[in-house]
Amino acid sequence: MIAISACLIGDNVRYDGSHKLNDELRHLIQENKAIAICPEVLGGLTTPRPPAEIVGGDGFDVWEGRAKVVATTGEDVTDAFKQGALKALEILQAHQCTAVILKSKSPSCGMFKIYDGTFSGELKSGDGVSSALFMKHGIKVADESNWKAQLGFLSF
Ligand code: SF4
Repeated sequence: MIAISACLIGDNVRYDGSHKLNDELRHLIQENKAIAICPEVLGGLTTPRPPAEIVGGDGFDVWEGRAKVVATTGEDVTDAFKQGALKALEILQAHQCTAVILKSKSPSCGMFKIYDGTFSGELKSGDGVSSALFMKHGIKVADESNWKAQLGFLSF
């Protein structure tokens, strides 16, 4: 079993109430080869919600207490992001998911590159809060743009 960011399978869970449907990934859900998770919704955040970015580092730094997640309103939403990531991890473990395909650039789900914390559209190197937690627990992670190459197996 694998998991997929819920916005990639058409759920309207993004900060602005939209989705980023990828038909191929939704097909995996329809075939019962994958489940969907949205860490930000699991963390209790509303949809829509103000966009947020990681300030002072990346997701790994958030778990080490060196960085925080801040919304455009100035609200510190670090705890909600961490709680959502932990709940998502519980779900992955309960379903024995070995890999997860995540939405790029997100402060929760992003991998390798995330928005830089200035709300300017610029990117920085780093991973999201949930991506970092999943990696720390040995779950393979990939983003939606290159998931077949990144996971490199997928004998679903
Ligand atoms: Fe939810 Fe992750 Fe998609 Fe953001 S990127 S809407 S946290 S599934």
